[in-house]
Amino acid sequence: MTSSSLGASFAALPLSEAMQANLQALGYAAMTPIQAASLPLTLAGKDLIAQAKTGSGKTVAFTLPLLHTLDAKRFAVQALVLCPTRELADQVTTEIRRVARAEDNVKVLTLCGGSPIRPQTESLAHGAHIIVGTPGRVLDHLGRESLNLDALQTLVLDEADRMLDMGFADDIAQVVAHCPKQRQTLLFSATYPEGVDKLARRFMRDAQEVKLAERHDTSLIRQRFYEVTEPERLHAVGLLLDHFRPASTLAFCNTKQQCRDLVAVLQAQGIVALELHGDLDQRDRDQVLVRFANGSCSVLVATDVAARGLDIAQLEAVINVDITPDTEVHTHRVGRTGRAGESGWAFSLASMDEMGRVGRIDQMQGRA
Ligand code: ADP
Ligand code: MG
Repeated sequence: MTSSSLGASFAALPLSEAMQANLQALGYAAMTPIQAASLPLTLAGKDLIAQAKTGSGKTVAFTLPLLHTLDAKRFAVQALVLCPTRELADQVTTEIRRVARAEDNVKVLTLCGGSPIRPQTESLAHGAHIIVGTPGRVLDHLGRESLNLDALQTLVLDEADRMLDMGFADDIAQVVAHCPKQRQTLLFSATYPEGVDKLARRFMRDAQEVKLAERHDTSLIRQRFYEVTEPERLHAVGLLLDHFRPASTLAFCNTKQQCRDLVAVLQAQGIVALELHGDLDQRDRDQVLVRFANGSCSVLVATDVAARGLDIAQLEAVINVDITPDTEVHTHRVGRTGRAGESGWAFSLASMDEMGRVGRIDQMQGRA
């Protein structure tokens, strides 16, 4: 993002000089809208419900308040960030470490499933200030008493909508039961369905709300719809890639089977494509993301669950291989490109049947 497209400077906030300098060094010249709207409240200790689209800078928006109350000289877990997936937890951990390097020796530990529990237990025994993890594994550690949250000051529920979609409501409730009543709770979500509202009401006290327009800034995203017949659909993806030659593409399918089929079709056309979906084990998923990040694979084929919230920079194109029945999901998919002020392509392939959905999408996006 360029500072010209953004508003207020971080300098207006009660942050240490070292933190101000670090934010500058990270290239964060000005606050994003969600940061500008939420930080004055959260740095003052308020509970907060924040809704803003993917890529709007929510991680920094919760990292600054949790660091604000953190005392690195105190060897206890003082902040917990719950995330839906390990990839997101890894990204959040990386971002917190970058922001926290302005302070002395803040230890951040990731606790997610898919990794052996023993090394995590050993790391916990060495002490950590901030835990970032998935609800299931965090709960596991609480049950084993390898994790203690008695000194917790800040609880963050990141991507709350996605955590609910993934069935974490009960796990979250159990984790919250281990947290002190006196704490700051921050809830971040890209969408705000009823379930999230219920969750918020259950766990938050007198929460402030900041909800930014749900619509992505589509001005930098060029959207195109193509009508296809069913037999043409997968082949059409190859034609689009061939014609526009984007350096990096995320192709969304509605099902895992469709992902597998598309990868096979693209590979037969000599295009290096890899799939990312829930059936892959963690190591394979990491491997796929590394290959996509380093450019050795230019097309990632994913389901919505697998792709949600990943901060993939420089995504030149998004392809909707199927049109999703959910207009909000469509908005999310398209919003994965054209991020951080870059322009991007969004291609959608629609059968005659799906054209009705396209009409709804057009309506939605025509709305101010
Ligand atoms: P979200 O959680 O809302 O999807 P992220 O926290 O992943 O968004 O941030 C998206 C990108 O924006 C990241 O690459 C992050 O480093 C960057 N970013 C965050 N805050 C700023 C800022 N103030 N100025 C410029 N870039 C920022
Ligand atoms: Mg996020």
